Amino acid sequence: MKILFIGECMAEFRQGEAGVWHQAFAGDVFNTAVYMKRISEECEVAFASVLGRDMFSQDLRHYCEQSRLDTRWLKSHESRSCGVYFIQTDTAGERQFTYYRENSAARTLLDTFSDNDFSAIAEQVDWVFLSGISLAILSANDRSRLLEKLTDLRRQGVKLVFDTNFRPVLWESRDKAKTDIYAFMESCDLVFAGREDMASLLGREDITSQEVADLLAPLCIPELVIKAGADHVMRLTQSERQHFPVEPVGSVVDTTAAGDSFNAGYLSALLAGQPPEQRVAKGQTLAASVIQHPGAIIPVNVTPAVSSV
Ligand code: ADP
Repeated sequence: MKILFIGECMAEFRQGEAGVWHQAFAGDVFNTAVYMKRISEECEVAFASVLGRDMFSQDLRHYCEQSRLDTRWLKSHESRSCGVYFIQTDTAGERQFTYYRENSAARTLLDTFSDNDFSAIAEQVDWVFLSGISLAILSANDRSRLLEKLTDLRRQGVKLVFDTNFRPVLWESRDKAKTDIYAFMESCDLVFAGREDMASLLGREDITSQEVADLLAPLCIPELVIKAGADHVMRLTQSERQHFPVEPVGSVVDTTAAGDSFNAGYLSALLAGQPPEQRVAKGQTLAASVIQHPGAIIPVNVTPAVSSV
C-alpha cells in the first residue's frame, strides 16, 4: 500500500526554560505522515508539498528522509521559503502562536505540480490524505483546481481521506470555508471530522457528535469518523453507527497532534485490512502516548508499537 500526504510542514520554534528556543518541524498532515511511517513498516508513505531553497527547507527535506518518507513529490520553489511559527507561553500559562506562512512555498502547490505529477500519483498511489489546512493555504481558485485533480484521481481508483482541521484565521470567511470543506468531504472515501472543528465551522459551540453526524448525513460519506477529544469517537458508514469510549489519560502534557496521531493509527490499521475496532484502538493508543509528551512529533523511542494493539 502507498499513501500520499498533501500539506504544509513548517519550522516550529518553541520557547522553553530561560527563554531558550527549541526548533522542530510540524504541520498537521506532515505529523500524520511521520507517525504513519513509524507504525506501518509495510506501508510506503510519501509527503507532497513545496519547500524553498532556504536552510529550514533543506533541513526539513533531510528530516523527511530520516523519517523514511518518500520525497519524490516534495518540490522546491526558486524564491519562496518554508513557513515558520513560534510558540510562547504567556503569563496566564496559555500557549500563544505566531505564524509567518503567508508567502510560504507550500502555497504554490497547484502551480508547481504538473499534469504529469498527477498522472504519476494516479499510477503509483493507493490513498491520498489531505486536510482543511491543506486547502486553507491555497487560493480559492487553486482549491477548485485541486478538487478537480483529486476527483479525477478518485475516478482512477485512488481513495481519498480528509481531516476537517479548521483554522478560521487561514480562511477568507467561514461561509467559504464551509462550502469548500463540504465539497471536499463529499468527494472523499473517508473523513475524519473533529467535533471542535465542526463546532467552530458551523458557529455552534455546543454541537454534539450526533448532531454533526446528522448534519453530514446528506453528504453520503462512505466512512465518517467523528473525534470528540476525551469524550468518545463515533464511526459511521451507510449501514453502521458505532460509538467508542476513550480511555482517560492521567497525565496530559500537550494535546498538540492528538488528532493527527489518531488519524495515523486509524489509517495504519485500515490499510492493513483491520476492522473498525482495531482502527479506533490503534488511533487511541497512539494519541494517548502523543499527548503525554510535549510537541507535535514525540521521540521515536517513546512512540508505542501499536502493531500489537
Ligand atoms: P482533533 O484534534 O482532530 O479534533 P481530538 O481532540 O478529538 O482530535 O483527539 C483525537 C484523539 O486523541 C481522541 O479521539 C482520543 O483518542 C485522543 N485524546 C485527545 N484528548 C484526550 C484526552 N484528554 N484524554 C485521552 N485521550 C485523548
